[in-house]
Amino acid sequence: MRAHNFGAGPCTLPLQVLEEAQAEFTDFAGSGMSLVELSHRSAEYDAVHRRALELTRSVSRAPEDFAILFVQGGATLQFAMAPMNLLGPDERAGYVVSGSWGQAALADGAVVADAYPAWDGATDSYRRMPGAGEVTVQPGTRFLHVTSNETIGGIRMTALPDVDVPLVADMSSDYLSRPIDWDRYDLVYGGVQKNLGPAGMAVVFVRRSALDRVAPRLPKYLDYRWHAESDSLGNTPPMFPIYLMAKVLAGMEAMGGIEAVERAAEDKAALLYAAIDGSDGFYANPVDPEARSLMNVVFTLPNADLEKEFLAGAAQRHMIGLKGHRSVGGCRASLYAALPRASVEALCDYLAEFRRGH
Ligand code: PMP
Repeated sequence: MRAHNFGAGPCTLPLQVLEEAQAEFTDFAGSGMSLVELSHRSAEYDAVHRRALELTRSVSRAPEDFAILFVQGGATLQFAMAPMNLLGPDERAGYVVSGSWGQAALADGAVVADAYPAWDGATDSYRRMPGAGEVTVQPGTRFLHVTSNETIGGIRMTALPDVDVPLVADMSSDYLSRPIDWDRYDLVYGGVQKNLGPAGMAVVFVRRSALDRVAPRLPKYLDYRWHAESDSLGNTPPMFPIYLMAKVLAGMEAMGGIEAVERAAEDKAALLYAAIDGSDGFYANPVDPEARSLMNVVFTLPNADLEKEFLAGAAQRHMIGLKGHRSVGGCRASLYAALPRASVEALCDYLAEFRRGH
């Protein structure tokens, strides 16, 4: 049987996508070769690559003035690439530090640029996002970096900060699960291994005018312009992740696009939060209700022994990936786009059963 995969990433992918890939694996498009054996300059692969770019644009609805790039190195490399490419001399970058990932982005940003925290949620244990008027950007700020969803803390940003500089966003853990307000951004990036495909790359959307503005001298792989000018074919691209992501995106388009993905996410998260909230405090979600993530639902049990027992019982029921991140403890259920509603229902049933038994 398929596991109920609540892992935080890499994560579950649509079974149909896996089966299609399996059926095509040894002989792709009549080539007599696997996709992973083809030249990245072949006509067969080129068609896959173009289709992946098209689908990324259509599902995201990114306007044409954004270039779409497929870049290896995950979201982590983007922590450095974004400031390296966007900042001119004497410009700085502000960061909303909303949890572990906001912290990580700032830490790497500070290695390559003049980067500072424009808001830090540490005093509230990273259980909420900044409210109106709380983010302050300093003079000379080129962009404000935000994390749309903090994967470990289980919070998401619902209101963008009211600042007058462009935003740069790490959307790794809720990528393409809600519409993007493109006017506010100069750059959006994320690793694909949660909502969109297997690990191996980040998808980067960058406003073309932002690239022409400063044109820093960089090694080519680190230069967004090089990726943009070559349609991400400057060197051998991560062909298999691109190919699988295109299939996932095609499925999203077929189900009704980003709004349909959003509705499904809201529905699944509502089920689980209702189970937690309806447990008379046996299970508890510690975050600000306004900021509750639809992708990563964190919850605690009354004590560590019960938590251990709960996780062991979950494993017996083929529910995996429910242990919270080692830095915060507790439990966490990640409900990424391809996780079936039936998996959430199974988890809710188990939550009720376990509580009755204790
Ligand atoms: N940002 C966020 C919000 C994440 O959840 C993660 C990975 N869990 C990363 C960045 C790092 O991504 P990668 O592993 O693709 O470098």
